[in-house]
Amino acid sequence: MTEPLFDKVAIIGLGLIGSSMARGIKKRGLAATVIGYDGSPDVRTRSRDLGFCDAIAETAEEAVTDASLVVLAVPVGAMREAAQSIASHLAEGAIVTDVGSVKTAVVRQVGEVLPDQALFVPGHPVAGTEYSGPEAGFAELFEGRWFVVTPCEQSTAEGVEAVSCLWRELGSTVEQMTPEHHDIVLAMTSHVPHLIAYNIVGTAAELETVTQSEVIKFSAGGFRDFTRIASSDPVMWRDVFLNNKEAVLEVLGRFSEDLAALQRLVRWDDGQALQDHFTRARAVRHRIVEAGQDTADADFGRSHGHDD
Ligand code: NAP
Repeated sequence: MTEPLFDKVAIIGLGLIGSSMARGIKKRGLAATVIGYDGSPDVRTRSRDLGFCDAIAETAEEAVTDASLVVLAVPVGAMREAAQSIASHLAEGAIVTDVGSVKTAVVRQVGEVLPDQALFVPGHPVAGTEYSGPEAGFAELFEGRWFVVTPCEQSTAEGVEAVSCLWRELGSTVEQMTPEHHDIVLAMTSHVPHLIAYNIVGTAAELETVTQSEVIKFSAGGFRDFTRIASSDPVMWRDVFLNNKEAVLEVLGRFSEDLAALQRLVRWDDGQALQDHFTRARAVRHRIVEAGQDTADADFGRSHGHDD
C-alpha cells in the first residue's frame, strides 16, 4: 500500500471516469478519504450501494469541504456549473483538477468561475470504454494509458506535480501539453474518429438498398467495430464536439480532402496507389501495437477497453 498522497479527495461526477478514479485511489491507498458526489440522486444511491467511496455526499458543498484535491468528472458541458457549485466552499490550498476530454474550453469555463486564488490543474486521462455510469468503472482503467496534464494560468508547479503523481500511481504515464495542442491532437486521435463512426453507422441506417437485417447480419465485415465506438455516451460526445469545434473542423477539413483523393483512386482504378496507401496505414497499426497501446491479438469485438 502506498503512503496517501492526499488527505481527502472529493470526486464530483460518479460515472465511468469518476468511479474508476475512486476505485483506483481506494485500491492503492492514495487518499485517506474519498468522498463522492453526483448531481443525480439515482447515481448517488447506486454509488452508495456499490461502495467505491468512503462516503457519498448529498451536496457538492459537503463533498469538497476540507478536501485537499477536488476532481471534476462531469461531462464537458457541465464543467462550469460543477465548478460554480464548489467555488465558494474550497479549502485553503485545495487543488482542483478535471478529466474532461476537451481542454481549452474547460480551462476557460472553469477558470472563469473559480476564485482567483484557487489552484486549478486541468488534465485528461486518455482511457475509457464505450460504457458509462458508476457500474462501468474499474480500478485498472488507467493502467498503461496516458494522462495529459495541460497547465493553465491558475496552475502551480507543485499542483501539477501533485496531480501528475496521482495519475502515475493510478498506472498512467503523464505527458504535459498546452490545452490548445491537446485539443488538436485529440481531435485527430479521438474526436474525429468518433464522428466518422457516428457517420458511418448513420449512413448504414439510412441506406435504402441494404436492409437493416443485412447490416446486422454481415456486420463482422468491419461495420461492427464502428458501432462499438458509436455506442459511446451521447451526452459526453455532444459536449466534446460543441466544445472542441475549431480543432475538429480543422482535422475534418483535411480528412475530407484525403477521402476525396481516395475516392479518385477508386474511380480511376489506381490499384498501386491504393495498395501504397493501405500499406502505410498498416504500418501505423504496427507502431500502435509496438507502443503497447493495443495487442496484436485478433479482436473479435470482445475486448472492452479503448481510449477516448
Ligand atoms: P458519465 O459516465 O456520463 O458520468 C458523468 C456523471 O456526472 C453523470 O452521473 C452525471 O449525472 C454527472 N453530472 C452531470 N452534471 C453534473 C454536475 N453539475 N454536478 C455533479 N454531477 C454531474 O461520464 P464519464 O464517461 O465518466 O465522463 C466524465 C468526464 O470524463 C467527461 O468530461 C468526459 O469528457 C471525460 N472522459 C471520458 C472518457 C470516456 O471514455 N468516457 C475518457 C476520458 C475522459 P447525469 O447523468 O444525471 O447528468
